Amino acid sequence: MKLSLSVLILFISTSAFGQDFENYFSDSTMRVDYYHAGTKGQESISLDKVYYEGSWAGSKKQLVDNLNRGDYLLRVFDLETNALIYSHGYSTMFNEWQTTDEAIGGTTRTFNETVRFPFPKKRVMISISRRDKFVASGQKLAFREVFATTIDPNDSTEINREPRHRYPSYDVVNNGPPETKVDIVIIGDGYTKQDMEKFRNGAKHFAEVLLNTSPFKEHRADFNIRAIEVESAESGIDKPDKNVWKNTALNSTYNTFGSARYVLIDDNRTLRDIAGIVPYDYITVLINDDRYGGGGIYNLYTTTYTKSDAPGQEWQMDYVYVHEFGHCFAGLGDEYYTSQVSYNEFYPKGAEPWEPNLTSIASRESIKWKEFIAPETPVPTPWEKSEFDSLEALRGKLDRLAPDYYQKREPLIKQTDEILKKTEFSGKVGAFEGAGYVSKGLYRPSADCRMFSLSLVGFDPVCAAAIDDVIAANTR
Ligand SMILES: [Zn+2]
Repeated sequence: MKLSLSVLILFISTSAFGQDFENYFSDSTMRVDYYHAGTKGQESISLDKVYYEGSWAGSKKQLVDNLNRGDYLLRVFDLETNALIYSHGYSTMFNEWQTTDEAIGGTTRTFNETVRFPFPKKRVMISISRRDKFVASGQKLAFREVFATTIDPNDSTEINREPRHRYPSYDVVNNGPPETKVDIVIIGDGYTKQDMEKFRNGAKHFAEVLLNTSPFKEHRADFNIRAIEVESAESGIDKPDKNVWKNTALNSTYNTFGSARYVLIDDNRTLRDIAGIVPYDYITVLINDDRYGGGGIYNLYTTTYTKSDAPGQEWQMDYVYVHEFGHCFAGLGDEYYTSQVSYNEFYPKGAEPWEPNLTSIASRESIKWKEFIAPETPVPTPWEKSEFDSLEALRGKLDRLAPDYYQKREPLIKQTDEILKKTEFSGKVGAFEGAGYVSKGLYRPSADCRMFSLSLVGFDPVCAAAIDDVIAANTR
């Protein structure tokens, strides 16, 4: 459904400021679930249910999202005055799925999704817009509205207040009131009653891994982390390619979009019902399984595996969690381009990605992270790309499930690591070609970064600044 009225409202509306929270909102959360259906180049949204949830965990001062990240933009307008009182950028499974062979082949699919905002006192109009990736080459990605509806918070027939799950929760890290902190909720999937001690250890471990990584480390006191003990009937999660199916609370699964290592969650409604037990801004799902894998979508959630199927490779879980959290928390894009992915033209040629760490514009004057580039660093920045590519081609030929996989991979990783460390502009910000799943035409800020190589290397300065911006927006 398209309401052209709302486009007009966008232009005449004013933005909400800090003092407006009390005017427009009460200290609880409105959750709107909807169905998102379509195929490549076509989509529609229809309302599912509106829920009342507990305390609002987000900022009460920064109600309008100035980060300009995400494939979608939620806007909430006060119906009486047309004032924009809340906005939030985010991405979805649906928009990723649109780039898969299945969608390109014309299949239509439906996903359940959620947006949340402070519970309004009076009638609001919510509007969801899409950042259009199907624009002509060279054009700027612009938003177009996909859905709009009005909600009356005082109509009991519109708002679902049914009490939901009662799983136990506890604080892993508590630094103060949710409204001035980044609030992460950790939920487990595939943990039985007997596995719960393992879940608690995992929650503690991954909280520490994150808060010991820069730039999160420097902002430790800005984070609250809570855990919810969710029991599943069976241990482990689905592995469709092995015909392994488990009865778990969240229905998380490997093989998302045909990728063996990509773990996402089929059951959004249950996930949101459970997460809503505590105040939260960001969801982390720990997977009680040992196959390498995880996932992270901007402002949706992060998943990671938590057991290693190969001795000595436990560090990879820590790599995965922080890398995926970078997607989920700050909207960072994948900088790697040599690994197999299920996407086609994830970043259409000629269109500039919105991700803060990817660009198609390698010119010193207009590159989006130009303030990070020293005058002596050439743009684009030379590096030993062909040498790197040939090693990566060898790595790509290895069978990940073969018993000697890690043994064979080790020397290749060592050599690529050497290249990235020894290249002339290593550690400097520039524009290094090869990023966002493509070898040519997209650039990353540094030779290496947690969003580039499979290693415990830190975030480069551009990614770190993008993370800092989100922490600041959450803690105002
Ligand atoms: Zn990634």
